[in-house]
Amino acid sequence: MKVLKFGGTSVGSAERMQLVSEIITATSEPKIIVLSAVSGTTNKLVAIGDLLLSKKPIEASELIEKLYSEYQAFIAGLLSTAKQIELAKKVVENSFVLMRNYLNYPFGQSKNNELVAQGEILSTNLFSLFLEENGIKSKLVLALDYLHLCSNGEPVLKDMSVKLNAILSENSDYKLFITQGFICLNNEGDIDNLKRGGSDYSASLIGAALKVDEIQIWTDIDGMHNNDPRIVETTKAIKHLSFDEAAELAYFGAKILHPATILPAQEASVPVRLKNTMAPKAEGTLIDKNIENRHVKAVAAKDGITAIKIKSSRMLLAHGFLLKIFQIFDSYKTSIDLVTTSEIAVSITIDNTTHLKELVKELEQLGAVEVDGNQSIICLVGNHILYNSGVIKNLFHSLEELPVRMISLGGSKNNISVLINTDYKLKALQKINNGVFGM
Ligand code: ADP
Ligand code: ASP
Ligand code: MG
Repeated sequence: MKVLKFGGTSVGSAERMQLVSEIITATSEPKIIVLSAVSGTTNKLVAIGDLLLSKKPIEASELIEKLYSEYQAFIAGLLSTAKQIELAKKVVENSFVLMRNYLNYPFGQSKNNELVAQGEILSTNLFSLFLEENGIKSKLVLALDYLHLCSNGEPVLKDMSVKLNAILSENSDYKLFITQGFICLNNEGDIDNLKRGGSDYSASLIGAALKVDEIQIWTDIDGMHNNDPRIVETTKAIKHLSFDEAAELAYFGAKILHPATILPAQEASVPVRLKNTMAPKAEGTLIDKNIENRHVKAVAAKDGITAIKIKSSRMLLAHGFLLKIFQIFDSYKTSIDLVTTSEIAVSITIDNTTHLKELVKELEQLGAVEVDGNQSIICLVGNHILYNSGVIKNLFHSLEELPVRMISLGGSKNNISVLINTDYKLKALQKINNGVFGM
């Protein structure tokens, strides 16, 4: 069995759904197909939710009706038999009756999660009707029936495995299962989600829970590229990554993978393959436990970083100083990405500034605090690149003349990270492309 996840652009039109149906029927082995919402839908649902939360029902209603007509047009392009069109209209009606109801009742976070979930509910239902119209037998499985978060906000794989196996054995005459990415139930039994881009994570969790042969992430590009293709012109697809390399790249900004995707697959030793729905013959990227040494595989950048410097002459040789700092961050559940230290100062980066004010106030008891926002972490990834002095030389050479704020080298053998003001990110990525990849 394999898990195949298709992202928003891959299910974004009737033509794309046709491509997906060709890909999933190209071989006869059993498959679980995980779908995102049609591209753009989640953004629109989030916008509607924001308007409802800020008590602007008239504007929310306008967006709801606009989205409703887009789905009417989607059905018209996707289906041709009267029976399937009628069934699809019912599916769309169900979601939109729910949305219109939000206009008349108190609206909070749990309703908002239910609203945002409609994207995946719609895409999976419409795709199932499309398959049926084309004579392809499939079983629609509701993610809410097997993906449940426990009190720490994470799913328990064992429970998921029991639930999924039961669903599969109840439906043993099916070879194709269609299910929603992104959505789940939380510990309170309410609809929730795995955060933006979370369908990749759903696929990985399903694949790990069932210990499938492979998890495939089908998207709009031919695999993980060695640099961010949205901002650097000359990038190329990477054929192979180790789990650790892929996890670092996903965490440090390579948008093609949700940051949490790799871990479940890695723990269950299930290879992950990144493929292009629009070019299925392209090799894509294979991610597995195999390791090649000392090559720089890729560079990624993560924006929205804040650097905090704590300077104290008392720190000089004082034990326990770092502990105190970390305890403060821990007490506000704020995780730290990079740390650099000198005898009298510590610089730390965070990406969650929810408690920045409180953090600064407490840190000020330890020394003078400086905060720099609008920073990006640029992260160079490759197994054991730390031992490749040529890489370090080329990286430093590439960054000449750029105002680097922090460098983290030696924390991991597989990662060299640099902190730079986001205004210089593009230049830095381009220079690294020349200096490190010779492109
Ligand atoms: P999907 O909707 O299929 O989940 P995403 O938009 O989440 O697709 O991810 C695919 C996009 O990730 C690509 O179109 C590309 O612009 C972007 N991306 C960013 N960094 C990388 C990278 N290093 N390699 C490949 N794609 C990347
Ligand atoms: N539809 C969700 C989003 O846009 C989940 C996903 O696409 O992975 O964030
Ligand atoms: Mg995505």
